[in-house]
Amino acid sequence: MHRRDQRHEFASDNTAAICPEVLAALEEANHGAADSYGDDERTGHVRELVRDVFETDCDAYLVFNGTAANALALAQLCQPFHSVVCHNHAHIQTDECGAPEFFTRGSKLLLVRGAAGKIDIHEADAMIARQPEVHAHKPRVISVTQATEFGTVYTHDEIKAITELGRKREILVHMDGARFANAVAALGCSPKEITWQIGVDVLCFGGTKNGAAAAELVIFFKKELSFEFNYRLKQAGQLASKTRFLAAQWLGLLTKDVWLRNARHANATASRLADRLRAAGKIDIVLPVEANAVFVRLSEQLALDLQSRGWHFYKFIEPDVYRLMCSWATTDAEIDRLTADMLR
Ligand SMILES: *Cc1c(COP(=O)(O)O)cnc(C)c1O
Repeated sequence: MHRRDQRHEFASDNTAAICPEVLAALEEANHGAADSYGDDERTGHVRELVRDVFETDCDAYLVFNGTAANALALAQLCQPFHSVVCHNHAHIQTDECGAPEFFTRGSKLLLVRGAAGKIDIHEADAMIARQPEVHAHKPRVISVTQATEFGTVYTHDEIKAITELGRKREILVHMDGARFANAVAALGCSPKEITWQIGVDVLCFGGTKNGAAAAELVIFFKKELSFEFNYRLKQAGQLASKTRFLAAQWLGLLTKDVWLRNARHANATASRLADRLRAAGKIDIVLPVEANAVFVRLSEQLALDLQSRGWHFYKFIEPDVYRLMCSWATTDAEIDRLTADMLR
């Protein structure tokens, strides 16, 4: 019998279930009454833990999803006549239905290319320099995705180069960290080393793909940037009234470094998958495997064959590159079975 929980899932890290620690934290929060709209104890506790994890005094807000986190963070930083420099495959450009443009009420995304999902710094600099004063939107933010949409991870120095460009050009740095945990796990660094310490101003820290049900953090490292952000959240329908349940999810992730453990696990399974495929030498891995995704070139026939066997994944780059995404829930046994089917 085909049971839903027996799907073989490599489509995304958001198809995974809620991790046990988050579920337990939700259960634990589900007793009695609590203050609403962020005034509850758990939300306060999450804010403290975020300050501990980042080792700095910062402002953190809870929202339901990553699109809102990005769009509202950018709206907070931009006037309608501002622009945001980002990669042409950035989630804010390709997958948010224009939410950044909508919530900023007119800001423009300036698209730059770059290998493996990373912004080409020279192209970004030239793009900014090229904007004719007063006649074009004024560049205000550069947005980097960490880990990238292509499963790669910016190194400390690569981020630093971008923040230095930001400083030189007087623009702010936003980080889309839907998979920030995977990046930290991959780099083996502390969160501060790749954020505020080198000049990242705002981080959207993803919880959902890490093991939560629906909860992302928007973290402002410069407090003056978060002025009246609560109003923006409320107006956008992103201020939960029962914030304790968003907060509980993050308590589940931040307590005992579950977020890091989940990310390390997801990365390790992707790396196991990549190692198996490399060892067999039959399937082309087309991008560096640095976080929890493996991008492979497959014939249409093999892709269809795998899908008919119940493996879920999809084509990411035309004509023949598919993404295999691992999560906290991916098991070694699944990797073994998938590679057996891929290499049969
Ligand atoms: C998943 C993802 C998001 C958030 O998407 P939502 O579906 O709105 O939660 C943002 N950025 C990147 C790079 C993502 O992969």
